[in-house]
Amino acid sequence: MTDLNSTPLTLAPGRGDEFRERSARRAPDSRDSDRRQLEATPVSLRRIGALFAPHKATLAVVVLLIVASSVVGLAQPFLVRHVIDVALPDRDVSLLVWCVAGMVGVAVLAAALGIFQTLLSTRIGQQVMHRLRSDLFAHLQRQSVDFFTRTRGGEVQSRMVNDIGSMQGVVTSTATSIAANVTVVIGTVVAMLALNWRLALISLVVLPPAVITTRQVARLRYAVTAARQRKLADLHAQVEEGLSVSGILLSKTLGAAPTLSRRFEQTSHDLVGLEIRSQLAGRWRMATMQVVFAAVPAALYLAAGLPVTRGGMTIGTLVAFVALQGSLFRPLMGLLNVGVDITASMALFSRIFEFMDLPVEIDDPAVPVRLDHVRGEVRFDHVGFGYDKDRPVLHDIDLTVPAGTSLALVGATGSGKTTLAGLVARLHDPDTGGVRLDGVDLRDLTLADLASAVGVVTQETYLLHASVRDNLRHARPDASDAEIEAAARAARIHDLIVGLPDGYDTLVGSRGHRFSGGEQQRLAIARTLLRNPRVLVLDEATSALDNTTEREVQAALDELARGRTTITIAHRLSTVRDADQIAVLDHGRVVELGSHEELLLAGGRYADLVRGGLAQTAAA
Ligand code: ADP
Repeated sequence: MTDLNSTPLTLAPGRGDEFRERSARRAPDSRDSDRRQLEATPVSLRRIGALFAPHKATLAVVVLLIVASSVVGLAQPFLVRHVIDVALPDRDVSLLVWCVAGMVGVAVLAAALGIFQTLLSTRIGQQVMHRLRSDLFAHLQRQSVDFFTRTRGGEVQSRMVNDIGSMQGVVTSTATSIAANVTVVIGTVVAMLALNWRLALISLVVLPPAVITTRQVARLRYAVTAARQRKLADLHAQVEEGLSVSGILLSKTLGAAPTLSRRFEQTSHDLVGLEIRSQLAGRWRMATMQVVFAAVPAALYLAAGLPVTRGGMTIGTLVAFVALQGSLFRPLMGLLNVGVDITASMALFSRIFEFMDLPVEIDDPAVPVRLDHVRGEVRFDHVGFGYDKDRPVLHDIDLTVPAGTSLALVGATGSGKTTLAGLVARLHDPDTGGVRLDGVDLRDLTLADLASAVGVVTQETYLLHASVRDNLRHARPDASDAEIEAAARAARIHDLIVGLPDGYDTLVGSRGHRFSGGEQQRLAIARTLLRNPRVLVLDEATSALDNTTEREVQAALDELARGRTTITIAHRLSTVRDADQIAVLDHGRVVELGSHEELLLAGGRYADLVRGGLAQTAAA
């Protein structure tokens, strides 16, 4: 493409080309998905404008720079004309040197202005992006766990990283390419008229059809490429389905191999035709442009020679004019494609705003109640809850856990233990009734107060990619090294940590030390000890620890639980037996409540559980 337009006299070398190529490279289906996104969640220009409002002054400078570099560039054809019509025929060397120096100077100046403009617009783009990225991160952190469970895996990360990442490119280049193209077109037309109005009129008649034809061909090519891309994706999917371990297992056990091979052959065959068409369409596009780039100057040379249109034109004017009109083509094409670019930019904003507008389901109260001293009494006051409002998971749960006592939750899988325990940490809010801490509804406490009053230890421990010390300090940033060590000691993990190559400074994670499941759990316990909450929610579920590890973890948990109110999703008989109260859940209802002895004596559901599942777990 560039080779066709690389006459030495080409002016204002196609700004925004890079961007047009980038948008052409976007996945073909993305245009449709951009449109769908915008239909589903429209964006107002005012809101986008507000993001850029703090940068108004810099934006004005950017626009000025664009206009200035276009105007400076337009001096070029007049210098050319002067060289050809005056300096060369008169053999005026000093004039020639001045003109040539002027040509180089103009190019250098336009380039310098361009660099400065790129610096400013990139800076604006990056600053807007930084603001959005940080706001979105903070906003998403406030979303409930349910939101993350509901949202397709990778979607949140993709919006955070990819959408905001492409924004700087898309938005600033769309905006600057529009501004640049408009100024170049206007400036060039003015200069053309100034050089020779007859030729200018001819150009304006010849150019639009040429540009439009080129564009039609480009569109055709786009459609073919999109079809090819889709087919190619089919092919990849079939390779994945047919040649991965699980895919081949399925295909072998179902005897589907012949069908899969036939399907693959068909897709591959379809691809052949599409590849050929797509290659050809590309060639067509090049060919059209080649012809256009030859035909328009040809028409101008013809006009320059015909007595009707000649009108006393000099050769210098003609040469300068031909070069000038060449620089009109790309900006015109760019302006015709502006719709697609704008849609892409708006769709990006729409995707980001959609997340920004998510209501915060679990938030701080307007007027929080402060608990000066947390005793740790937890009360479930006729609590009802469902993930789906039409399908309640918990019904009328009415339980009191006096401060410093323990409650063990037992029941079949799916009976609602995890959900009930989660309510205490406000992972969800009840639909009816309320959960109270020392008589105060959890919704009346600030999230920070709640987090320092209630600690949660589950089987799944998330460790940050940081040192062991920082992982522990994450729980309480102001903890001293001595406090961190004391917590690790109490959680039975200190000896292991000091045995590591870098002790507490050992890096955790894929590039550092990998802790086993039991060790991770003890780190989690150490974290919770550092926070020193009055109320503990423990999840013993899906314990896959060996006997020794389990004993160590249990010892650490016992240490943690001492003197605190604990609500445990219990799987071990020992935990249940020692609990002050046991609540047996069945389909979201408390069906039995009492101590181990009382419930065994009653000979109901709990007694069955102990004889069955619980006993097995305990024996393990
Ligand atoms: P348990 O801990 O006793 O196994 P849960 O509290 O995990 O029980 O689950 C209780 C019920 O809620 C089950 O029917 C389960 O399918 C449903 N459930 C759990 N989590 C979700 C969720 N995030 N979205 C929708 N339903 C859920």
